[in-house]
Amino acid sequence: MTLKIKGRKYGQILAVRPTKKRFHGNVVWHCVCDCGRTRLVPGTWLGRWVQSCGKPGCSLRGAHNEPSARSKTVYRLLKKGESPTELARKFGVTRARIYQIRDAMRLKEEVSV
Ligand SMILES: [Zn+2]
Repeated sequence: MTLKIKGRKYGQILAVRPTKKRFHGNVVWHCVCDCGRTRLVPGTWLGRWVQSCGKPGCSLRGAHNEPSARSKTVYRLLKKGESPTELARKFGVTRARIYQIRDAMRLKEEVSV
């Protein structure tokens, strides 16, 4: 798996090398975006939702941009113990989306880019 990822291009980002960091047991990759910025991305996210560095000003704003105010709110409420089902209803999104937001926000906390 590691070998297959190395040197591959996912959308606009190139997986350069694996880091020693892990996210939910998955290797976190050091990636370089076409715009020149670097980003750390868990291997399982590559080719799924991450296609660019997602930083403001990047030519391609892929999934996982800087967290929106809504994402921050969702995450704060999750940490306070609100259920994903309840939050999904409140924000009019699917529960899968709530989990995505949670994972994205967790990664931001755990991995310093
Ligand atoms: Zn970029």
